[in-house]
Amino acid sequence: MFGYKSAHETYVLIKDMEWSQRLSKYASLLPDLQSGLPVADVYKTETPGTESQLAAFDVVYYAGDCNAGSKTIAVNLPNDEEVQLQKGTRRSQLKNAMRAKFDKILIPLSEVLIDPDQRRYISFDAFFANTMFHEVAHGLGIKNTINGKGTVREALKEHASALEEGKADVLGLYMITKLHEKGELEGELREYYTTFMASIFRSVRFGASSAHGKANMIRFNYFREEGAFTRNENGQYTIDFEKLQKAMNSLSEKILTLQGDGDYEGVSVLVENMAQIQPELQSDLDRLADLGIPVDIVFEQGIEVLGL
Ligand SMILES: [Zn+2]
Repeated sequence: MFGYKSAHETYVLIKDMEWSQRLSKYASLLPDLQSGLPVADVYKTETPGTESQLAAFDVVYYAGDCNAGSKTIAVNLPNDEEVQLQKGTRRSQLKNAMRAKFDKILIPLSEVLIDPDQRRYISFDAFFANTMFHEVAHGLGIKNTINGKGTVREALKEHASALEEGKADVLGLYMITKLHEKGELEGELREYYTTFMASIFRSVRFGASSAHGKANMIRFNYFREEGAFTRNENGQYTIDFEKLQKAMNSLSEKILTLQGDGDYEGVSVLVENMAQIQPELQSDLDRLADLGIPVDIVFEQGIEVLGL
């Protein structure tokens, strides 16, 4: 009820020391990015914890909630706001699971839905970065409402997770944009944006029962209204990079404001109007299903697979 109780899960992970070293520098940039958020100052007075650990792992075993339904490729825990503000969080990138989703889902999906001229921008490094900065972006923004309604999570009840996931997606892309501007991140911005767009199709397929699925439906509809992409008669999507960047900023502002105000009514309206799959998008998703492109990966795991 209201999303108050979480399910349990466990991972067995092997840490990738080299990748983890490369990632550790980003956590220290959080306070600077927080102050640059595209929203009124009153919504960004909290200081994100810089104690956060950012590390990459390969997964050898998933158990419980993470292996039921959509498979997690990155984790940011704990969820408790008080602990987050005092101690920061541990953000774990699950590299081999990410690679599997990229190869088996994102690439085949892009070959159907992304404009052939923009497909060259789909890259694993961009997918990895988008996923990583999604996790880092959970640390940005606002955990407590500005008007005495308690934590954002309490105020927004059953909509809290979907909005928080939507925030992390869009602020993750904001971070990438800022770091790219500062010269802290390599590659072309178009790679991050195109891969981000392709990933919306991937995540929309998780459906309305998933917080990630809902967040992506809202973003897809919002981006469409803002002209961030167009769809041609072949059902292929072309991204307008400039408009996508604008939409990214305005959606960030909208979400952060709803969170800071603890505006349960406002979020309910947003979810009702925007967390929907319109017939046109549904027909595109049906094409993916007809082609046998999986919604998610399924693990073969356990002591037999490990030869133990
Ligand atoms: Zn998340």
